[in-house]
Amino acid sequence: MTTEYILIVDNLWKSYGDKVAVKGVGFRVRKGEIFGLIGPNGAGKTTTLRIIATLIKPDKGAVWVKGVDAIKDPISARKHIGYLPEDAEVYPRLTGFEHLLFYARLRSPDNPEKAIEFGKKISGLGKRLFDRTSEYSKGMKRRLLIALALLSKPDLAILDEPTSGLDVYASVRVRKMIREYVTSTGSAMVISSHNMLEVEYLCDRVAFINKGVVVAEGSPRELVEKYSAENLEEAFVKAVAGR
Ligand code: ATP
Repeated sequence: MTTEYILIVDNLWKSYGDKVAVKGVGFRVRKGEIFGLIGPNGAGKTTTLRIIATLIKPDKGAVWVKGVDAIKDPISARKHIGYLPEDAEVYPRLTGFEHLLFYARLRSPDNPEKAIEFGKKISGLGKRLFDRTSEYSKGMKRRLLIALALLSKPDLAILDEPTSGLDVYASVRVRKMIREYVTSTGSAMVISSHNMLEVEYLCDRVAFINKGVVVAEGSPRELVEKYSAENLEEAFVKAVAGR
């Protein structure tokens, strides 16, 4: 299996009872690339990300993370993965710094100090790290959660809706944080979003996903050109309509 790609997803299928949530999804992500999975509510983004993060098993298909078969050997694959679930929460009674300590010991047992320092830096929370998270704004909580997912510098970071529920200022800060992280570490990243503006700004390549199917894939610019669209939103609508 080639290691040029940090992530290879091939022909994933997943049903919940009668509901087929993911129908043959496949894509590849290289080192240093931010890949966006874009689609409306219920498109199958979270299911796909949860399969890649080894939290659920697909009915069919393959996932390779840095050359490791993530379905056959999830424990080895997890060593390469940092995952932020869409509904992740902080512990209100703990400070931000206590979160960093806990996660650094868990994710980087060989060198927790280094991971704590990196987590402090990327969170950008400064002295506020020593406050309880019950005193944080939504944007600060999100920045802490993303720092926790990234502090061990995983080869593959998976962020499900990283700016969900944030105002424009908080979203801009989070996007900046994500871009700086990928530039400084060369890690691969997969994010999901329904915010096309965010995706256009942040992602090197994207896959449009609708009703469990990838309907188009390419760089935001390629997709806009391919569908003779004004922007990514219009390209998405045309890609879905053309199926
Ligand atoms: P959103 O943007 O709203 O988070 P999504 O693109 O992430 O949506 P999924 O959460 O993967 O989509 O859901 C895909 C489909 O599978 C939806 O129809 C959803 O209702 C269904 N589904 C997801 N998880 C479950 C579950 N645990 N049990 C039953 N159905 C589920």
